[in-house]
Amino acid sequence: MTDFTMTTDADGVATITWDVTRKSMNVMSTEAFGLLSDLIDRALADAGVRGIIITSAKKDFAGGMDLNVIARMRAGGAQAVFDGVMAMHHVLRRIERAGMDPKTLKGAKPIVAALPGTALGIGLELPLACHRIIAADNPKAKIGLPEIMVGIFPGAGGTTRLVRKFGAMLAAPFLLEGRLCSPKEARAAGIIDEVVAPEDLLRRAKEWVLSATEAELVKPWDARGYKMPGGAPYHPEGFMTFVGASAMVHARTMGVYPAAKALLAAAYEGALVPFDTALRIEARHFTGVLMHPSSSAMIRSLFINKEALEKGAKRPKVADQTVKKLGVIGAGMMGAGIAHVAASAGIEVVLIDSTQAAADRGKAHSEGLLDKGMKRGKVTAENKAEVLSRITATTDYAALRDADLVVEAVFEDAKVKAGVTARVEAVTGPDCIHATNTSTLPITGLAGASKRPEGFVGIHFFSPVDKMMLVEIIRGQKTGDVAVARALDFVRQIRNTPIVVNDARFFYANRCIIPYLNEGIRMVAEGVKPALVENAAKLVGMPLGPLQLIDETSIDLGVKIATATRAAMGKDYPDAAVDRVLFWMADQGRLGRKAKAGFYAYDDRGERLGLWDGLARKYPLDKMQPSLADVQNRMLFAQVLEAVRALEEGVLTDIREGDVGAILGWGFAPWSGGPFSWLDMIGAGRAVEICHGLTAQFGPRFHAPALLRELARTGETFHGRFGAATPAA
Ligand code: NAD
Repeated sequence: MTDFTMTTDADGVATITWDVTRKSMNVMSTEAFGLLSDLIDRALADAGVRGIIITSAKKDFAGGMDLNVIARMRAGGAQAVFDGVMAMHHVLRRIERAGMDPKTLKGAKPIVAALPGTALGIGLELPLACHRIIAADNPKAKIGLPEIMVGIFPGAGGTTRLVRKFGAMLAAPFLLEGRLCSPKEARAAGIIDEVVAPEDLLRRAKEWVLSATEAELVKPWDARGYKMPGGAPYHPEGFMTFVGASAMVHARTMGVYPAAKALLAAAYEGALVPFDTALRIEARHFTGVLMHPSSSAMIRSLFINKEALEKGAKRPKVADQTVKKLGVIGAGMMGAGIAHVAASAGIEVVLIDSTQAAADRGKAHSEGLLDKGMKRGKVTAENKAEVLSRITATTDYAALRDADLVVEAVFEDAKVKAGVTARVEAVTGPDCIHATNTSTLPITGLAGASKRPEGFVGIHFFSPVDKMMLVEIIRGQKTGDVAVARALDFVRQIRNTPIVVNDARFFYANRCIIPYLNEGIRMVAEGVKPALVENAAKLVGMPLGPLQLIDETSIDLGVKIATATRAAMGKDYPDAAVDRVLFWMADQGRLGRKAKAGFYAYDDRGERLGLWDGLARKYPLDKMQPSLADVQNRMLFAQVLEAVRALEEGVLTDIREGDVGAILGWGFAPWSGGPFSWLDMIGAGRAVEICHGLTAQFGPRFHAPALLRELARTGETFHGRFGAATPAA
């Protein structure tokens, strides 16, 4: 292995270069850590070496730990994880002390990290152990500790070092929110020491090594008289910080994310003891988090599988289908959003509506988003002009002539959509792919209006388009591979995450969300406290309770979907009890947030005040309220059983998509890793038992699907049976 190599120049400056040749980005492995350790020992022992530069041969420094390595570490059990983490601490601590005499704190060799670009996770924890961090002025570089986003926390000393460097309060955004910065922002925040022109990076690093004073090599926490910035926990100010942080973390996470709790515990307990003991405490909590099923499920869904889907795991093997020119029909909320994200990704866009004013309003939406970006310093005037110049707002279908892809986002009405399909196909070439953004109408039916059904596909965006990362691609019965590949390549261009599902009413995401919303409404009708419904959902990790979610998406939309579904299903329609509430709300004019009146009350500016008290007059509260667990089970099972049925029926063909799609599409309890990961966590046997209880009490919608019963019988898990391509992290 040659992930790290070392050369020493005539001035006695050793340069250790990180270059994982088999990958485009450096990632750390256990073996590489061993190699780094050997090189550091050699350089420290070599009297001819005056100091060390640690840098990268790539344009970036490092992307973090190889998460597959973490998966392997876990397989060895808790003790092996703890030992592995402690071994890492020892190496980083040797870098930090760099051979100094522990009594006099003298005799260390200067070690500097020279970062050409992005430095994330262990890619920043290693520099944090060095005596100085110099970064190239590379505006594309991202610097930070994003571990919390995948359900772990910085466990290679990053937590302990950052808390000791800044105090808990200032370290919080970097540790608890995984905040990433550009090199200049990182310099301003004090995470790194210097930003220099890229061509000066190594020269400046060497200059620093040759001129460093002994005092510069002693970390504040190793110097005598160190006091934690902002105060240690028993200091009055420190006390306030930790009490506040604990409340803040709980308010945000509802206690369901083990990593956030463990991080806080590591920071608090670590702050009470000497530095080396704090590292042991960090390692203990880190081991606990790594061994928790939530972290493995989150890493698997939010990192490994999400990335696999983005890299084309489900892409048919056909030639590149990159989109150069996109047509968007319908410049409403969705069409305008799609035009904006496409133009921002460098694609030329023709945005069509039935009037010029409507088309212009669609383009103005993009301008509004760009203005917001400028205010936040994320967009320059030049970017704005470029993006807007790529959008042509018009009523003229002839402008679509050489489009590679057309996305239709007009009213949710099959006849209107059929008319648009015919007008588009009259001007586009035979190679143009026609996509519809319908949220409910089966694609196969809509494709009936097309002369080229093999080139007809569903591309279902979620609202708001510029924020929601999931795009659901739907294969109709006649949709061909090129259409699916073009849709996937388009989603790659706009940097979203795709799932590919087969055609059925509501596809995948809406099929699972609607029962969640309905179950919440059903409980209100039964006299369950609306606050219990909402809080039960949040306490199990749903970002929004069902009543809030339906207020956001609007009650009239719910009425429309219910009416269409009832018409399609006839006497089999199961949701009459839900409709009574929904239709009554609509009759009261309580259409949700947009009407400033829904299940919640709102003030004049549309700010949510609290649950609407009129609900209790219409649906008096039952004296006997159900337990929290019962309410949670009803809402979770309403979703996960639909996911299992979607898999059984072949709508979903890959549980990776089921898990990733649920988290990114409707925020399904991210701590769980998704519906299939959650079922695996509780076990199919237990899930079937709960289904029996729910069916007996609430009816056949909770009947356990055959596949779930089968797994309960054989003792298998979903990821065990269907996830061969997706080893549990
Ligand atoms: P919208 O009412 O905001 O916009 C529809 C636009 O289409 C309007 O500007 C209208 O003028 C235009 N239009 C209607 N008929 C037209 C025609 N014949 N030719 C050209 N333009 C025409 O609706 P929306 O919320 O943007 O939804 C559009 C589509 O996206 C629907 O199929 C909807 O189901 C789907 N969708 C909506 C959401 C959502 O959350 N709103 C989410 C996913 C998908």
